[in-house]
Amino acid sequence: MYKIDSYLIPLDEVLSILSRLKAKSIFLEAPPGVRDLAFMLSSLIEDNVDVSIYHSGRFTWGFCDVGINDAKLLGVDAILHVGHVNPLRYCSGRGVHIENISSIPVIYMPFYYNIEAPEDAITDVCRVLSKYVYVAYPVNYEITALQILKHLPRDVSYEANVMTGCYINAMDKLDMYDQILVVAGGFFHALTFKILNSNLKVLNYDPHRGKLYDVENYFRRIYALKVDSIRKCLNAKSFAIILVNKPGQYNLKLARDVKKLLQENNFKSIIVCTDEVSNNLISLYPNIDVFINTGCPRLAFDNIDQYEKPLINPGEVKTIITGRLNSYSLKLLLNNSITI
Ligand code: SF4
Repeated sequence: MYKIDSYLIPLDEVLSILSRLKAKSIFLEAPPGVRDLAFMLSSLIEDNVDVSIYHSGRFTWGFCDVGINDAKLLGVDAILHVGHVNPLRYCSGRGVHIENISSIPVIYMPFYYNIEAPEDAITDVCRVLSKYVYVAYPVNYEITALQILKHLPRDVSYEANVMTGCYINAMDKLDMYDQILVVAGGFFHALTFKILNSNLKVLNYDPHRGKLYDVENYFRRIYALKVDSIRKCLNAKSFAIILVNKPGQYNLKLARDVKKLLQENNFKSIIVCTDEVSNNLISLYPNIDVFINTGCPRLAFDNIDQYEKPLINPGEVKTIITGRLNSYSLKLLLNNSITI
C-alpha cells in the first residue's frame, strides 16, 4: 500500500492495471470529501503513466454512481472510481477490482483511512461488546476495524464484513446477533442496520473522533420525521416518479410499474429522469404533492428534513395507496416490492 497524506492506497495495482489496459485517457471520480486525494493521486499517476486525466465534478455517492455518460462523451479508455467498492466483489487485502459498464472498464480503487484506534477507545469497545457481534464497516475504515477485531475479548464471537448504505452481507440473519458494531465516520452506515431492524442494538465507533456511540437517539429523531413525512402523503393527489440515470440506480421497469400502480388507483403521475435527487429538483414541480425515488433508497430517510415535499421510496407507495399508516414499517424503505 502506498501512503499518501492520511490515506493508504493500492497505487501499484492501479498503475499496473492502467498499463495493462494501455489506457491513454481516464475519467477520475471520487466522493465529495476526498477530492484532495483525487488531486494527489492524479499527479502520482501522471508521474508514472502517459495518460490524460479528466476529473469528475459530479458528487459520486457510491459504487452505484459511476460517470458513464461523461466517460462516453470524453471517449476515455477507463474510469478510475476512487473510494467505493462493490461489496460482493471486494476481497480484503486485494484492493482493486474491475467491472465493465457499457463496455468501459471501471477500476474500483478503495482508499483506506490510516487511523489506529487508541488503547482507551479499544478498551471502551471491548467493555460493551458481548456474546455474538456483527462488525461492519465501509471499506475505507478497514484498517481500524481489523485492529479492533484483533483486540476483542475471547468470549466475544463475531462475523465481520464490508458494507454500504444499502447492502449488508448478513441482511437476512440480523436477528442472530446480540449487538452490531459499525466502524465508520458519522452514523450513516450504522443506521442501515436500524432501518432493517429497529430493535437491533447498534453501536458506532467513529475512528476520526476515537469515540463509541449508541445510535438509538439519533435514529429515533429521524424515524419520527420519516413517519410524519409518510403521514403527509396520505392526502396526495399527484406524484412524480424519479428515475435516476446513474448506472447502479437506473431502474426503468420499477418506475413504469410504480406509474401503472398509481394509475390503477386513480392517481396522476409523471416520470422525471435526473442524475441527482435534491430539493432543487423537487422545488421545480409546484403541482406535485409527493416524489417517489427509484434511485438511492437512503435519500428518503437520512435527508428527510431537507425536502420541501415528501420524498418516498417505491416500497412505501402501498402505504399511501391503502392509507394504512399503522402497518407501515421502515423495512419498506429498502424493499422495492410494490405489491399491495
Ligand atoms: S444506492 Fe445509495 S446507499 Fe446504496 S451504494 Fe448507492 S449511494 Fe450508497
